[in-house]
Amino acid sequence: MKDASPQTVYLSDYTPFGWQVQDVHLTFRLAPEATRVLARIHFAPNPDAPKQEFFLHGEDLTLIHAAIDGRTVSPVQSAEGLTCTVPDGPFLWECEVEIAPAKNTALEGLYMSNGMYCTQCEAEGFRKITFYPDRPDVMSVFTVRIEGEEPVKLSNGNPGKTGEGFAEWHDPWPKPAYLFALVAGDLVNHPDRFTTMNGRDVELNIWVRPGDEGKCAFGMEALKKSMKWDEDVYGREYDLDIFNIVAVDDFNMGAMENKGLNVFNSSCVLASPETSTDANFERIEAIIAHEYFHNWTGNRITCRDWFQLCLKEGLTVFRDAQFTADMRSAPVKRIEDAQMMRGRQFPEDQGPLAHPVRPESFQEINNFYTATVYEKGAEVIGMLKRLVGDEDYAKALDLYFDRHDGDAATIEDWLKVFEDATGRDLTQFKRWYSQAGTPRVSVTEDWADGTYTLTFRQVTPPTPGQPDKAPQVIPMAVGLLNPNGDEVVPTTLLEITEAEQSFRFDGLSARPVPSLLRDFSAPVVMEREASAEERAFLLAHDTDPFNRWDASQMLGIECLIAMITEGATPDTAWLDGLERVLRDTDLDPAYRALMMGTPSQAELARVLHERGHTPDPEAIWNAAETLAQFRAERWADLLPRLAAEATVEAPYSPDAEQVGKRALGAGVLALQTRLDGGKAAQAQFDSADNMTLQLTALGSLVRAGRDAEALAAFEEQWQDDRLVMDKWFGLQIGAAAPDVAVERAQALTRHAAFDWKNPNRFRAVLGGLAMHHAAFHRADGASYALLADWLIRLDDLNPQTTARMAAVFQTWTRYDEGRRALMRAALERIAAKPKLSRDTGEMVTRMLAQ
Ligand code: ZN
Repeated sequence: MKDASPQTVYLSDYTPFGWQVQDVHLTFRLAPEATRVLARIHFAPNPDAPKQEFFLHGEDLTLIHAAIDGRTVSPVQSAEGLTCTVPDGPFLWECEVEIAPAKNTALEGLYMSNGMYCTQCEAEGFRKITFYPDRPDVMSVFTVRIEGEEPVKLSNGNPGKTGEGFAEWHDPWPKPAYLFALVAGDLVNHPDRFTTMNGRDVELNIWVRPGDEGKCAFGMEALKKSMKWDEDVYGREYDLDIFNIVAVDDFNMGAMENKGLNVFNSSCVLASPETSTDANFERIEAIIAHEYFHNWTGNRITCRDWFQLCLKEGLTVFRDAQFTADMRSAPVKRIEDAQMMRGRQFPEDQGPLAHPVRPESFQEINNFYTATVYEKGAEVIGMLKRLVGDEDYAKALDLYFDRHDGDAATIEDWLKVFEDATGRDLTQFKRWYSQAGTPRVSVTEDWADGTYTLTFRQVTPPTPGQPDKAPQVIPMAVGLLNPNGDEVVPTTLLEITEAEQSFRFDGLSARPVPSLLRDFSAPVVMEREASAEERAFLLAHDTDPFNRWDASQMLGIECLIAMITEGATPDTAWLDGLERVLRDTDLDPAYRALMMGTPSQAELARVLHERGHTPDPEAIWNAAETLAQFRAERWADLLPRLAAEATVEAPYSPDAEQVGKRALGAGVLALQTRLDGGKAAQAQFDSADNMTLQLTALGSLVRAGRDAEALAAFEEQWQDDRLVMDKWFGLQIGAAAPDVAVERAQALTRHAAFDWKNPNRFRAVLGGLAMHHAAFHRADGASYALLADWLIRLDDLNPQTTARMAAVFQTWTRYDEGRRALMRAALERIAAKPKLSRDTGEMVTRMLAQ
C-alpha cells in the first residue's frame, strides 16, 4: 500500500536508467567559496531500459554552462535536478557548475573540514557535486583532474599526471557515483607497501593532518592484516596500484569505502596508547577491515538500488566480524555482537522504526543506515552459513564473485547464488529480508522412556505496516547436558520452519538439561521459563561459551527484575555461581570481564516492557546500584585477586590478551571504588601511562562523585587533542548521577570547546546524555527538552546527524504516561520546526505514528 506522501520511494517502482554512462571526466577548480566542477560525460541509450525523459540529479548547484555535442543547451531545472532534450543516439554532455564547499555544513557532497577539502557521496551526495544520474546501478569509469594549490590532491583509482597546481587520477574500475571521492589539503602520510597473492605491489598510505603522523601505525597494521585475510579466507585480492586512507575530523559516520580512497572519521583511524582506549583500538581494527572488505563486497559488486543496502552492508559486517573473531577471541566477539543486537537492533525491531533488513520504501535513504540493515543483515548471513555449512558457504561466495563481479546486484541475485550452489530452496528463508520484527521463540519439553522432545513455537509481533507475520526459518543450535554436567548431545543444528515444531532425541539415560540457541544462532528472543537452578547449572557446566555467559545474563535479568518489581534482595545463588566462574583462572580474562558485566539499564527496560511492565527508570537505576554495591561487598575477597590477575607488566599493547586483562581490571575497579570511595581509582588515574587505564579510573572517580580535580587535570592535559576531549565531554555525562547529568550536559554545551557543528563533539555531549538511561528519562523531562532544543538547532546545519540522533526517542511509548507525554511533546516540537529537513521529518513522523 502506498501512502500519499509524494516523496516516498518504492522498491517496486524500480526502473533502469535510460542511458549508459560510458565515461566520466571531471575537473575540479578548488576554491572554498566557489569551486568550479567541469564534467564531460559520454551517454549512450540503454537498450534494456524503457523510454524516458533525460533527467540528471543535482542539488544546490549553480549551473554555469551546459552543452550537448558542443552546442549550448538550456536544461529545465528543479530543486532535484534537470531535464533536457537529448539526441536519440550517443552524445557528449558537458557541464560546468559552481559550488561552495566552505558553506557546506551537512558534510555531504564536497565540504571542508579544518581547511581540507573532502567529499562524502554515499548515499546521494554526488548530486551536490555535479548533475548526474546519481543512482548505484549507473556505473562508469572516472578520470579526475584536481586544480588547486593544496600540496596533496587525491581521488579514486591510480595516480596519473601531476604538476604545478594539478593532479590527475584514473580509476579503471567502473563504479557508481556514490563511491567517488576527492580529498585535497595540507596532509602528511604514513606510507607502507603490500604485495598481493599474485604479486601486485601496492602502495599504502594513511593521510592525516600534520601532527597526527604518530597515530597511524596501528591502522596500517590493521589494513595489511585485512588485505591478507581477505586473500586467505575469501580469495579476494586488491586491484589497484595504490590504496589511500584519509582521516577527517568532521564526518557524519564512521568511515566510507570510496574506491581506492577510504575516508575515515579521525576517531575511527587515529590511535596511540596515550590517547586511545583498548575499545578504540579494537573498533579501529574492525572498521579498517570493514571498509577494506567493501572493495569486493560493495565496490566490485555493488547494489542495484538503495533498497539492497544490506547486500553490501550485511555481508561486509559479517566479514569484518569473522575477521575480528580470527584476530582476537571468537566467543568474546560473538557475545559483543549479541549485546549489540539486544541493545541496539532489538529496540529498533520492536518499536516504531522497525523495518525489514531490505526495506520496501523510504523517504530519505540516509535514515536506513541502521542496526537492522547492518547488524541484523549480518546475522541473516550468519544463519545462512550455519544452514548450508562452511563448505557450501564458500562455494556460494565463489559463485557470487564469479557471477556478479562488475554488477549492481540484488538480494534475489544473492539468494539465487546460494540456491544454485547448494540446491536448497530459500523461498522461506527470504522472509528474513522482507519481514521486520524480532521472532520470539518459546519452548516446552517432554520426557518419557529415554526420549526427550523439544517443542518450539515462534511468533513475531506486528510491526508498522506488517500486522501478520509468517513463520521464519530459524537455525536453532542445541546441546543437551546430563544432570551430572556431561554433555550427552553436542551442538546440533535444528531447523525450525513451522509456527510449532517438535524435535526428538532418543536413547537418553536421564532427563537432560537443554542448552538452547547456542552461540546466538539466530537473532530471536528465547522465551524459556527456566528455573534459576537450571540456569545456574548451565552457568556452571555449559560447554558453549556464549550460553554460559547468557545463563548468567538471564539470571542477572531475573534478579534485577525481582528487585525492581518485588523489592527482592539480590540472588546470592547466582552471585556464588558467577564467583566460581570468575575465580576460574583457566578462563580468558576477557571472557571473565564479560561475565562480570550486568545487563544494561536500557536492556532491562526493554525486557520489562516485553513482559508487560511499565519500566521505571529510577527504580531500574536504584536496583542496578543496589546490586553493584551488594556485589562489591560480597566479593571483597575476590576483587584483590582479580586485580592482581588483571595487572599488565609488559609495555602497553592493544593485543587481545592485554585488552582482556584491562577489561577485567575495569570491572574490578568499578566495584572496588564502591568500597574504598575512589582510593584505588585515584591511584590508577595518577599513575596511568595509557588512555585505557586513565579513562577507566576517571570514570570510577566520576561515578564516586570525586571527580572535580581529576576532570580538571585531564582537561589541562588533553585540551589540544580533539579526540581525547570528546571522551572528556562524554564521560562526565555518561558516568554522572542521573539527577545531575542533564545540568552537566547543559553546562558543557556552554564550554568554549563545545563545537556543536562537529558531529563527534555533538554526539559526545547530547548522545552521552541520551545513552544514560536514567538521566535521559529524568521524570521532569529536562533531558528530553534539552535534546529537542539541540536537535532543532542542528537540523538546519546537519540533517543526517540530527535524524540519526532523533532516533533515541524511539522507545517513547514504553514508558509511563508522564514521560510519554513529555517525549511526545519533544517530538512534536521537533516536528513543528519550520523547514524541518526531510531526514528528521521522516524520523519524527514514523516515531509519532505510533
Ligand atoms: Zn559498510
